[in-house]
Amino acid sequence: MEFSQKIDVNILRRTTFSPRVKNARIHVICGPMFSGKTTSLIKAVKSHQKDGKKVFVFKPKLDNRYADEAVVSHDKNEVQAYAVEKSVEILDYYLNADVVAVDEVQFFDDRIIDVIEKIANDGKSVVVSGLDMDYLGRPFGSIPQLLTIADEVTKLNSVCTFCSGRARFSHRISEDNGIVVLGEKDKYVPLCRSCYNELKDK
Ligand SMILES: [Zn+2]
Repeated sequence: MEFSQKIDVNILRRTTFSPRVKNARIHVICGPMFSGKTTSLIKAVKSHQKDGKKVFVFKPKLDNRYADEAVVSHDKNEVQAYAVEKSVEILDYYLNADVVAVDEVQFFDDRIIDVIEKIANDGKSVVVSGLDMDYLGRPFGSIPQLLTIADEVTKLNSVCTFCSGRARFSHRISEDNGIVVLGEKDKYVPLCRSCYNELKDK
């Protein structure tokens, strides 16, 4: 059998590229605890709203630290949000949105990756924020895959509690060993790599 190297020009003629919405992007904001992830997400949401875009914000239901129907940063800035249990529930709500935002994305189930890709493929930009490493320094949930498919990544640092260097680690100082432990400064401290390595086994 002979293989032809000719390009089927008819395929090119038949295909017309007309993306419905241009510049639908996936933006992942990640970093350790107290690095301003939620503040950055809220800033992005408000910026889209200022441009006249309808933004729907989602968060995992387990997170009710401050309010049930809002995403609130540590500095008490907030936007309205839907709290959903499973990632696929986002697909029930997003159709009327121009932009979809997701906070604490690391706590969602694995299907969040497909959900986010579907929304972006539908021409809607997606901005998500989440912890990139758990308290043992391991990649958190779906964050590695989300970083791969992202068009834009913002990696934030916090300030190391001990040396004031750039912190990338969220060191747990409480006794609780569950991966999902929500909390404030009484449970975690941000640490740089050196201080984390020094303290993690103590
Ligand atoms: Zn340090």
